[in-house]
Amino acid sequence: MLSLASKMGKRIHLDHASARPVDPRVVAFAQPYLGENIGNPSSLHSVGLKARRALEEAREEVAKLINAEEPESIIFTSGATEANNLAIRGTALRNAQKGKKVVASAIEHISVLNPMKELQKGGFEFHLAPVNSTGTVDLGRLREIITEDTILTSIIMANNEIGTIEPIKEIAEVVHQKGLYLHVDATAAAGCIPIDVQADGVDLLTLSSNNFYGPQGAGALYIRPKVKVQPILPGGGQERGLRSGTENIFAIVGMGEAARIAQAEMGEEARRLKEMRDKLIEEILKIEEAYLTGHPTQRLPHHASFRFSRIEGESILLNMDMRHNIQVATGSACSSKTLEPSHVLLAIGLKHEEAHGSMVLTLGRGNRPEEIPKISEAVKETVERLRRVSAL
Ligand code: PMP
Repeated sequence: MLSLASKMGKRIHLDHASARPVDPRVVAFAQPYLGENIGNPSSLHSVGLKARRALEEAREEVAKLINAEEPESIIFTSGATEANNLAIRGTALRNAQKGKKVVASAIEHISVLNPMKELQKGGFEFHLAPVNSTGTVDLGRLREIITEDTILTSIIMANNEIGTIEPIKEIAEVVHQKGLYLHVDATAAAGCIPIDVQADGVDLLTLSSNNFYGPQGAGALYIRPKVKVQPILPGGGQERGLRSGTENIFAIVGMGEAARIAQAEMGEEARRLKEMRDKLIEEILKIEEAYLTGHPTQRLPHHASFRFSRIEGESILLNMDMRHNIQVATGSACSSKTLEPSHVLLAIGLKHEEAHGSMVLTLGRGNRPEEIPKISEAVKETVERLRRVSAL
């Protein structure tokens, strides 16, 4: 007898925004740092020095991925949440004598919004910059919000839920007309689209290793030379004193190799994924009352996000998983447990009931064009079935 899984066919992973398989080349490259080469970069003996060299080579690769001025402007962290916290709390607290105002777009990840709210409790003034219906930051409103006492503005490079890519260069110009620093959360964008912190005028930028097929447990904050930040994790003084704690060498070495591979292969992979994404969007929009969320063209090449009227995103996710062996996301992967409508979908102007019916598909290296008909059929079957049930 066939098992349920074999009846459903091969698993199709369409939730790369939440987790990506680590590239086997990355695993092979970093593996020795779990065994024979394991060393503490702060140790002065030969094994320690080997780990130190590997750490610095990884720093160079990550710096190249975003065209940073120098490798020293990269501070390794445990991931994007920690990098966002260091950027926001570390910069605001260090520069508090210059002003007490901090600004974030209304579609930032919760790991940006929550540290901002913490600052507010501590006496800072926190403002949200609105976005339009495609999820693009309203530059006119941003210009009005930013004043001489705005010490930090945080804008996401590309949103993980709706895929919209923000005009970072224009935003940096607006921020620097009156305000001090611009922090950009590039977690969802890095490795998918080119990033140039110097050309764009970015002061601080967050990266996460797994988003470009590196190991989980490593991330980085780019800090432009001369930008003043204070540590939020004091201790042994690693990472130029900005992030104490023994470095996660395996994950960081893997992150460096993943950055090198992403840079070499990004252009071609983005073209391949964009073609598949456009076909998926075309097919799924044939379903009655299906709508694309986010920007129609200024969006991540692997990202397709939708909303469907009269059904719930959680039911879509479970139906796709259990009946079709296809893993998708709804709302924010990190806060979808709350069952609250996504703040991102509310910020682009959707009503509560509209925001509940969302589905996010994020393609990756393992996906193939032959999967598109199966995915489109599964979405169609799911939406129709759930609507029949909800009509009952
Ligand atoms: N920023 C963005 C845009 C994200 O999508 C995420 C989640 N992947 C994070 C920050 C936080 O990442 P992590 O939970 O890995 O720290």
